[in-house]
Amino acid sequence: MSIPRVVLKPKRAQPFYGRHPWVFAGAIAAVTGSPADGGEVELHSGTGNFIARGLFNSQSKIRVRLYSWTPEQALDREFFKSRLETAIRLRHDVLKLNNPAGACRLVFSEADGLSGIIVDRYANWLTVQFTSLALAQRREMFAELLTALLHPAGIYLRTERGIGKLEGLELHDGLLHGAEPAGPFEIEENGLRMLVNLREGQKTGYYLDQRDNRQAVAKLAAGRRVLDAFCYSGGFALHAASAGAAEALGLDASAAAVQLARDNAKANGLERVEFVEADVFEELTRLQALGRQFDLIILDPPKFARARHAIPEALRGYRRLQTLAIKMLPSDGILVMCCCSGLITFDMLEELLAQIAAEERRDFQILERRGPAADHPVSVYCRESGYLKCLICRVA
Ligand code: SAH
Repeated sequence: MSIPRVVLKPKRAQPFYGRHPWVFAGAIAAVTGSPADGGEVELHSGTGNFIARGLFNSQSKIRVRLYSWTPEQALDREFFKSRLETAIRLRHDVLKLNNPAGACRLVFSEADGLSGIIVDRYANWLTVQFTSLALAQRREMFAELLTALLHPAGIYLRTERGIGKLEGLELHDGLLHGAEPAGPFEIEENGLRMLVNLREGQKTGYYLDQRDNRQAVAKLAAGRRVLDAFCYSGGFALHAASAGAAEALGLDASAAAVQLARDNAKANGLERVEFVEADVFEELTRLQALGRQFDLIILDPPKFARARHAIPEALRGYRRLQTLAIKMLPSDGILVMCCCSGLITFDMLEELLAQIAAEERRDFQILERRGPAADHPVSVYCRESGYLKCLICRVA
């Protein structure tokens, strides 16, 4: 049986020979053979050459997601099993993120040649998130493969807000396999005990991508007064406190996050750390008016720019935050600026820092330009898979 074909418009094939996995509707001239949503298709150039195999979705702007550039390669169970094995091998065997009590991202969508699925391991539990209809339709198969490969206690499905509309995907959070954890449970990170709530926590339960950045910040924290703005479950503040910070204050607008952070402080026996439920913009304004000072400030806001048109507004948000923060940093203070909007580049952030430095007549030195931990790799074919930036600066 021949496989339905998606034929590109003339001169639109180059990115896909370059192995970019997203074929947008606008690049397509014709579809032959009426593929079902989620079904396999072959991508062909306008001149009739085979380019790649992918999965079709008429309801998404990403009309085809590509997985293989080998003719005749079926996108079947064996294929996905092999991709999962390759992704897991990187984390467990190469990066040695194999502490049974630890946590790591095992599969990161495009970065692992698996556009549309994210798998995180939290000790013996897995969370799975689907961002494509086609892979979500195969969720039973993925649950079986992951169970056979990893023997988890349970696999929990997390859905991202807005994805239903983007992909025509009706999915709800819930158990995919095995048992549900009774409530928040502990994982180990850099020697600390951190609580994770798979069912209600943000993202897929925890911000794994900041693991190494928390450690980098901890190295600078001894003796300093630390402010962790947008702290979620307290990762940065607790690492700093455990590394000997004079004091640490964490702020987050979510009551549930602040509760997790306080429980984490207790679980680790850390005392000079406090967590407050507050809007960061309001609280920084208030603290600054009171003349409060901190020697190390971490800013890790949520994604401000979700679309290209939102970039200027997002940069205004970062500007406000940074301006508030540096007024509270004495000379030789450390500013840690994180940004998880893929659309905002290091260049944009650094240009912003330069402008603020000049306005405030302070000198900034960039000490480290960091990304996410290595279990969140970037595919060279799809550099959109890179998103997290973390600039560590000295403010003179
Ligand atoms: N630093 C955290 C991750 C932060 S994610 C870590 O290391 O785990 C962003 C956090 O910002 C979320 O916890 C969210 O609840 C919080 N948030 C979003 N808008 C906020 C606001 N205006 N004020 C305070 N917190 C906010």
